[in-house]
Amino acid sequence: MNASTISRYAFCLLLFAIPGVTRTMAQELSVTAIRAGHLIDTSTGTVASNQIIVIERDNSSGRGTIVAIGADAEIPEGAEVIDLSDHYLLGGLVDAHDHLALTYKEEPESNTYYFTTLMDSTAIRAIQAFSTGFQKLSSGFTIVRDLGNNGLYADTALRKAIAQGWVPGPTIINSGIIIGAFGGQFHETPEREDTVYPEYLNADTNDEIVKAIRRNIHYGAKVIKVCVDCQAYPYTAEQLKLFVSEAANAGQKVSGHVQTREGALRAIEAGLWSIEHDNAMDPEIHALMVAKGVWRVGTETPKADWSRVSDERWERRVTMLRDAYNQGVKLAFSTDADYFIPGLNRGELTIEFLKSWKAAGIPDAEILKVLTTNGYEISELENERGPIREGFAADIIAVRGNPLEDIYALRNVSFVMKDGLVFKHDGVVAPMDFFHNGPQYGWKVR
Ligand SMILES: [Zn+2]
Repeated sequence: MNASTISRYAFCLLLFAIPGVTRTMAQELSVTAIRAGHLIDTSTGTVASNQIIVIERDNSSGRGTIVAIGADAEIPEGAEVIDLSDHYLLGGLVDAHDHLALTYKEEPESNTYYFTTLMDSTAIRAIQAFSTGFQKLSSGFTIVRDLGNNGLYADTALRKAIAQGWVPGPTIINSGIIIGAFGGQFHETPEREDTVYPEYLNADTNDEIVKAIRRNIHYGAKVIKVCVDCQAYPYTAEQLKLFVSEAANAGQKVSGHVQTREGALRAIEAGLWSIEHDNAMDPEIHALMVAKGVWRVGTETPKADWSRVSDERWERRVTMLRDAYNQGVKLAFSTDADYFIPGLNRGELTIEFLKSWKAAGIPDAEILKVLTTNGYEISELENERGPIREGFAADIIAVRGNPLEDIYALRNVSFVMKDGLVFKHDGVVAPMDFFHNGPQYGWKVR
């Protein structure tokens, strides 16, 4: 027993000596059983009727686990029973590209996010991120890949706050600060060239690239985001390979913002995990992506009265999405929905992006697979979270209609369970059980 162990031990004794400052050990394990009228396996597009899902939740770690599924699964004595026998149940949805701590808007910044980054502190953006993540969870999004533009690691702060048990939210796969060549995605003036940071980490040389990746990982990134070709001096394929190997050294993948055809070719050659945005996509690029197994994260903004998608852009977007689907490119549902549309919350705005997939003529059951199964895979969570399967995390959503036949049934997600705790029931969000006055699941969770 060293000195610090002794002092911790003494501190615990002191805690238990103060009246009222004791931890209840009761109810650390709670059991829930769901009567599932129609249980969808989104990977196969099949439905099992009248299933019982048994969930055990360890309230000290925040882990909720599916322990049994079946028509004859036994409901343990004392279990809370939730009746969803008139619902379709499925694993949670995934948005593979958003920026929860960024919301640009018409007033006052004319939808120019550069000005948003100048006006909003990281602190206010972190609180916004909690709100936007909460709204997405309410619409059934239990996993979000949060790919940068989050000030000084507001994304890491949100991920930790959720994982430690301060607030509810989706499981976050975050990138930290986007790494780019001098200037990031900005067009700076020489007088103000320090404004690039902390939205972007300038990394022009190989040493700077390695340092930027390590810095992000140290500050909590779970995936590396690189701006491949945001400037007139794009990264070379060799440099992008360095990104891939350095990220792999920490077990991480590299997602690339790509806006030019040349950038896409280099990203594919270097073996990036995913290409973000559909700007540079065409049939030849798609074929190369299939050959290399690169994910297509198209962020397909629909044509709508709230969007600024030209007819030409829309036509191309839909045609290319259909081509990618026909060629068998690995597709992820993704939005980049980082702006304020009055009348739509962030979750509702996210669901609007289904229009692009419908317009591309992709069957509803396939869109559902992209939203779920593919989302778990691009997030590299498919062996622990997502599918409704024994031993997996208890993230479950439910809708009244059958989304295999009408994907827009997802507009009305009436039930959301996250990590075995009910977040939304009968269309009402009642999340108090998710809030704690401390790091309930451990301050070391990070
Ligand atoms: Zn983005």
